[in-house]
Amino acid sequence: MRLSRFFLPVLREDPKEAEIVSHRLMLRTGMIRQEAAGIYSWLPLGFRVLKKIEAIVRREMDRAGALEMLMPTLQPAELWQRSGRYDDYGKEMLRISDRHERDLLYGPTNEEMVTDIVARFVQSYKQLPLNLYHIQWKFRDEIRPRFGVMRGREFLMKDAYSFDLTREDGEHAYNRMFVAYLRTYAAMGLKAIPMRAETGPIGGNLSHEFLILADTGESQVYFDAAFHEKDWRSFSIDYDDRAAVAKVVEEFTTMYAATEEMHDAARFEQEVPEERRVSGRGIEVGHIFFFGDKYTKPLGAKVLGPDGREVYLQSGSYGIGVSRLAGAIIEASHDDAGIIWPQPVAPFDVGVINLRQGDAACDAACEKLHTELENAGVEVLYDDTADRAGEKFTRMDLIGLPWQVIIGPRGLKEGVAEVKRRADGARENVPLEQVAEWLRQRLQA
Ligand code: ATP
Ligand code: MG
Repeated sequence: MRLSRFFLPVLREDPKEAEIVSHRLMLRTGMIRQEAAGIYSWLPLGFRVLKKIEAIVRREMDRAGALEMLMPTLQPAELWQRSGRYDDYGKEMLRISDRHERDLLYGPTNEEMVTDIVARFVQSYKQLPLNLYHIQWKFRDEIRPRFGVMRGREFLMKDAYSFDLTREDGEHAYNRMFVAYLRTYAAMGLKAIPMRAETGPIGGNLSHEFLILADTGESQVYFDAAFHEKDWRSFSIDYDDRAAVAKVVEEFTTMYAATEEMHDAARFEQEVPEERRVSGRGIEVGHIFFFGDKYTKPLGAKVLGPDGREVYLQSGSYGIGVSRLAGAIIEASHDDAGIIWPQPVAPFDVGVINLRQGDAACDAACEKLHTELENAGVEVLYDDTADRAGEKFTRMDLIGLPWQVIIGPRGLKEGVAEVKRRADGARENVPLEQVAEWLRQRLQA
């Protein structure tokens, strides 16, 4: 992609309305634009990141056996009257009526709708287990939308729903999602600590929130520093192996970790040696619940069990804040110069900087590399603008692509390009004809 043909409306000044770094950087780099309080357009750079996050979430959900579908953003009020939540939800729910004066709402979540679908089509235990998910926009009329996409009113969520015959099967479904969440966040370069959570208005009795650490997080968290030593990446898992899945859950839930609401200071001191007690701020990037028959009962989702008796299904729900993650990743990964994208979610892998646009040799070398990288399947943004070198450096650091290739007359004389790693600024001269392969190898690693 040539920058001259891309749409990257970078702001020169820091936007005044942004209180936290991710909001500031998302606005500055032209990732998003606010349309109304808590409602955003995703401009091309931001949308590329959103798609990458979504793809990782989808891959890990699919691996864990969940089935993707798509439910609408608008829902009939009647479904929510049946579960009793139409009135409970209060002002956070955006209520709409159509031309026939039928009551609708913009979905804040989908327990009712998915349970109704299951009630209609699942009659036998032989159709279980079932886990259905979608990645869809939600609306919650938050009292105080703020921090950009972190607390929006319209936001993108992945929500999965499990349905099982027995409590044990339901717990296994819950555990599968727990492990899938660990893998999902790790694949984005994040450590999201699972913390026992209150079940809140959704209800039920088993629940964990996943939080990443960041000074600007809205939750106060307390945990055992041993979490930092855990291996979050390299465990492979057979999701059908109940004991193995339960073992991972056990491993990640025996260490102390709690949000303010669940924190027990006495237990913390008793269980965790002083030098390992950590407290700080965290951002909730996911939340899982197991709630038994709380929704299946009012919505009539029941099956005939193997013994011929009718039973209500055991269900759970599992959310990931897809659009919030775009901001949360920036909170966790930036420096004074701008964003530092973890490669799996970066909008492009590599930025090519032409130090002297218009110089025949520089232009030719950049063009050639640009084509080579695109052919090798590397996502590249080539800064082919006539801007001064200083401006190009600043902008490239700001948008935070993992690698930069800098091509100028001096290097060209020696047949090299300078390659810079954004994360630590490490630089290396690489022979021009090897740059594409050199990068390809590092991107695969
Ligand atoms: P919070 O406590 O942050 O208000 P919640 O507990 O109400 O969130 P859930 O119903 O658990 O949210 O939704 C699942 C996930 O969706 C959350 O873990 C969070 O990552 C994301 N999310 C919830 N509300 C918002 C919002 N207003 N803007 C962006 N993402 C959100
Ligand atoms: Mg929550």
